[in-house]
Amino acid sequence: MNNATLRATRDPDPHALPESPDVYRTLLESTRAIPWKIDWASMRFAYIGPQIESLLGWTQDSWQTVDDWVARMHPDDRDRVVGFCVSQSRAGVDHEADYRALTSDGGYVWIRDVVHVVRDAAGEVDCLVGFMFDISQRKRDEEELMRLHRELEQQSMTDGLTGIANRRRFDQCLETEWGAARRSGQPLSLIVLDIDHFKQFNDAHGHVAGDECLRHIAGELAGVARRPRDVVARFGGEEFILLLPETDAAAARALADECVARIAALGIAHGAPRTGALVTASLGMGTALVDAMATSQDFLRAVDGRLYAAKRGGRNRIERL
Ligand code: GH3
Ligand code: MG
Ligand code: MG
Repeated sequence: MNNATLRATRDPDPHALPESPDVYRTLLESTRAIPWKIDWASMRFAYIGPQIESLLGWTQDSWQTVDDWVARMHPDDRDRVVGFCVSQSRAGVDHEADYRALTSDGGYVWIRDVVHVVRDAAGEVDCLVGFMFDISQRKRDEEELMRLHRELEQQSMTDGLTGIANRRRFDQCLETEWGAARRSGQPLSLIVLDIDHFKQFNDAHGHVAGDECLRHIAGELAGVARRPRDVVARFGGEEFILLLPETDAAAARALADECVARIAALGIAHGAPRTGALVTASLGMGTALVDAMATSQDFLRAVDGRLYAAKRGGRNRIERL
């Protein structure tokens, strides 16, 4: 016998599986994942790891049948998860499902159940075996990330000083509404509003008062545009814009008058030399019936042109296209 033959007979194969079931039990019951087995014919738990009790609070022997599993699932997840798992199991397909499992103290824990379908010699489904993983931390992280994402998206569309929509949001909405108006044949109106002699207001009262004035006016304009698709945005420094879908010229005129009236009702003293006693604004407005040739930017430029006409005409007035 040479040395190699000797080693082969004496050394155990390092890759051979252990023979004792105790080894498997110890392994299964020392993982963080919770192993389980369900007998397909009876729909009863043949096994569930004792770790289930520390995760959900229900004792190991309280898991008797598949009904216990279904009953301890969040009602909003139940139909989706049970329907999916039953159909996959019937088809003999391994699968996984995420759901909220009820804890014995009335809370919920996010679980990922990874299911393997075991068939008998005849190819029929014999049992289901799987692992439950606690994914609640992962879900919390995902939800927090989604919340941050939504918040960032919201912030990137909002004017920091006044809290109304910003220029970027207006630009996006104008494009969307321009397309919608072209398809529907409905009129689209725009009102551009610029505070009169605002530089002098700042000079007279300071920038803090100037900011306060902008916030008040933004609040009033937001109250004018009441329909869900209306957009009131801060267009630039002391310039605001109202995008009014499905609004004809007469309705837009009424809203422009309301803007003027609301700003007057604020009664903010201007008091700079050569200005009126109260803060006022000049407005340009227009209504478009969108045809295939025109662009939204042409329309915006034309309405902006009316604002400058209102300034040239003496301010505190409305000029329309
Ligand atoms: P006009 O009647 O022709 O519009 O005159 P105006 O003084 O309002 O216009 P101008 O463009 O000369 O000045 C705009 C002023 O708006 C200058 C700037 O200090 C002020 N402004 C712009 N943004 C802000 C802001 O965020 N806060 C404050 N307080 N002032 C601002
Ligand atoms: Mg201006
Ligand atoms: Mg101005």
